[in-house]
Amino acid sequence: MRLQNKIHLYTSVVFAVLLIVISASIYVVFSNLTYSSELESAHDNAKGTVVGVNRTAGLTSDKELLQTFVPPDGSLKIVKDDETSIGGTVTSAGQNNLSTFPDRFYMEERSEIIEINQRPYTFVSIPNPWIDGSVVNIQMIESLSTAEENLKVLRNVLIIVTLLALVPVIISGRILSNLITRPIATMIQTMKDIQQNGEFKRLSLKNQSKDELYEMGNTFNLMIDLLEANFDKQEQFVSNASHELKTPLTVIESYANLLKRRGFEKKELFDESIDAIHSEAIRMKELTQQLLLLARQGEQWNLDLEVINVEELVEESIRGFRNAYGREVNLTVKNNIITIADRQKLKQLLYIFLDNAKKYSDKAINVSVEERIDAGLIRIEDRGIGIPKSDLPKVFDRFYRVDKARNRKLGGSGLGLSLAKEIADVLGIRIELDSLEGVGTIVTIVMPLEADSPQKLS
Ligand code: ADP
Repeated sequence: MRLQNKIHLYTSVVFAVLLIVISASIYVVFSNLTYSSELESAHDNAKGTVVGVNRTAGLTSDKELLQTFVPPDGSLKIVKDDETSIGGTVTSAGQNNLSTFPDRFYMEERSEIIEINQRPYTFVSIPNPWIDGSVVNIQMIESLSTAEENLKVLRNVLIIVTLLALVPVIISGRILSNLITRPIATMIQTMKDIQQNGEFKRLSLKNQSKDELYEMGNTFNLMIDLLEANFDKQEQFVSNASHELKTPLTVIESYANLLKRRGFEKKELFDESIDAIHSEAIRMKELTQQLLLLARQGEQWNLDLEVINVEELVEESIRGFRNAYGREVNLTVKNNIITIADRQKLKQLLYIFLDNAKKYSDKAINVSVEERIDAGLIRIEDRGIGIPKSDLPKVFDRFYRVDKARNRKLGGSGLGLSLAKEIADVLGIRIELDSLEGVGTIVTIVMPLEADSPQKLS
């Protein structure tokens, strides 16, 4: 069953039951009140009749006595203790059926509502001393037809009112269910459109009160914004990556063709081709490694935190770097720092900056470690080509390279700094970049000290 019909049915049924219960309660309470007040007045009448009967008994015949005191809409009789009546039952006009009511003797006073031929009557029996010294019951039955008629009218009015009240209930239930399900239906339609056309559509939320349904639609739109942004980013990333891989592959292909045609005729041509293929292959390997690191963020950022002596870590990294590239790297430690970080990731960060300093300068690289009041600093300084001021804000973007032609010669993919930024973010480290074109570049890694570290050791 559709949600709309469910809401409609549920509200209608609940309200209908409520109305019926209210009407039925009104009827039951009112009929009880009516019958009990009728019974009370019948009892009073009977008492009055007993006084009259006592006063007149013996002065006239039993039949006449009963006819004098019979109620206008009922019967009167005097029942002896042997359950026979004195003078029979006298009934008023139209109440002949009461004459068949059995003669019963009761020791105590009795007043109740009884049913004769499915019509309600009051029955009052009062024990009374008779002129012959015995005890008799003076029994009076009175019809409740007027009260019954009144109650019938009340019952019909209540039924009509209940049925009339159900009409707006059913209509408002339909309006309510529409109100709730319309935005949901629109959302479903939008989702189907997105699924079918692959377009990132949004819900129109004009002229709506700021209720939960508005909030749901708004959240849906925000989610679509996020999905679209991620989709665009991914598309951009894939197209950048394929673009970057195309150049080395083209170079390799053209040199391989050259080798196939004339490579073995000339030794210089052969050497040049092999060198070019080799260096492009290395570049591609680095590129794919960095791409993989960036793409696999989820797995990559499983941090293995530990307390790190920064001087030791920097010294170790520099030693490895000197051995690998034979470059002069000087280390100055003003004050040592202790921090909490992931050792491998911090090293990776240092290697990215050292690698850039090596690529974009020929002179010695200076590294220093020092402590500020609230942070520890590692500085990597080179005296190389520097970065133009206008390029400084962009160098952390993926694939951004200041001068593509020159960079291709030096190697590099434009991914190093963006990877460094992601690592720094996850370690809670800030990176500052100062550079002057033609003078050199200073990269400062600003990290929290062990005591203030936001990272917690588990
Ligand atoms: P790449 O792999 O090309 O070096 P990066 O993301 O590491 O990519 O750097 C982006 C760009 O920033 C580089 O292309 C380079 O032009 C510039 N750059 C980065 N570090 C330095 C540096 N120490 N000296 C001069 N230029 C630099």
